[in-house]
Amino acid sequence: MKTIYLDYGATSPVREEALHAMMPYFQLEYGNPGSIHDLGQQSGDAIQRARVQIAQAIGATSPREIIFTSSGTEANNLAIIGGARKRKHHGSHIITSSIEHPAVLEACRYLEREGFQVTYLPVDSYGRIQVKDVANAITEKTILVTIMAANNEVGTIQPITEIGQLLQDSSILFHTDAVQYIGKVPCSVEDLGVDLLSIGSHKLYGPKGIGALYIRKGVRIEPLFHGGGQEREIRPSTLNTPAIVGFGIATELAVQEIKQESERLTALREYAWSRIHQEIGDVDLNGHPTTRLPNNLNLSFHRVEGQAILLELNRQQIYVSSGSACSAGKHRPSHVLRAMGRSDEVAHQSMRITLGKDTTQEDIDIMIQHLSQVLTYLRSLFI
Ligand SMILES: *Cc1c(COP(=O)(O)O)cnc(C)c1O
Repeated sequence: MKTIYLDYGATSPVREEALHAMMPYFQLEYGNPGSIHDLGQQSGDAIQRARVQIAQAIGATSPREIIFTSSGTEANNLAIIGGARKRKHHGSHIITSSIEHPAVLEACRYLEREGFQVTYLPVDSYGRIQVKDVANAITEKTILVTIMAANNEVGTIQPITEIGQLLQDSSILFHTDAVQYIGKVPCSVEDLGVDLLSIGSHKLYGPKGIGALYIRKGVRIEPLFHGGGQEREIRPSTLNTPAIVGFGIATELAVQEIKQESERLTALREYAWSRIHQEIGDVDLNGHPTTRLPNNLNLSFHRVEGQAILLELNRQQIYVSSGSACSAGKHRPSHVLRAMGRSDEVAHQSMRITLGKDTTQEDIDIMIQHLSQVLTYLRSLFI
């Protein structure tokens, strides 16, 4: 039986070019990039190349604006907690949205316990934040706005450029969690108007356990760790050379391929949606119909739990997700779908299909064939 992986929103395999580039740095080029001798400098040079690749991929003006972290989660924590603490003498108010990834929401909740006030903005039924809601939430105490570029569950893309314009002439820090966005949608930090931007590696065919924070030149944040002074003292610890090398190549290639791949995935997604809608029926699309990630299809099948569909498809080695991977296992309805105004029942019905580099039309056809059988079966139980 062929495995059909349709959970690229949770993670992706390391692409061949990235794996190949990483290999020498485990056993041959193992020097500490902080060492002065040649072996250390070779690691240092490799890290610098990756820094340039990532800076160019996001349109940063200098590679110095890229700080490597252990993950997208750490980049979010560093931006939000580090940014808020640095600005605490200017104010104590933070604005975010109610549909952020837990790595943002929990960092904000943590700051509330430290005495900061946080506004969690609502979203419309498509999962979109309104720029006017951001404008109305700003007070003289506001020091930080953090809004994700694209939602990991429903795929909706947020008006980051417009929010960037709103904040342009203010001293308020603007951060975006772009972990799902980079490599899927063309972007530049200049166009977005952000001060801080989080990137992850493992959703764009790089290795797990590595990420980066873009910090605009002149923006200051407090470090979360204290140690040997690496990464301009913003994020000390010996750098993970192999992971950084793989992350750099994967990011560069994802951005190079963006146009072709986003068109291909959008067409495949539309094909899947129209067939599911017509042939299976009693199904709603969650998220915005067009302003969404090219590879994301989030569906609610009436009268059937998403979790039940996931488990039935799993028996056929077809791998999808219900809600977000991070909340799987917990039986809470998705906070994203709840914020979009869905009932608990409809939120429990959701299933996320995320396509990727290796997804073919044949994969989609096989998935739909099984999905159709699974739904006929599951719906027959509840009539
Ligand atoms: C996956 C993800 C993260 C967390 O990234 P890790 O590298 O797994 O820590 C943060 N934000 C979004 C939107 C994500 O999809």
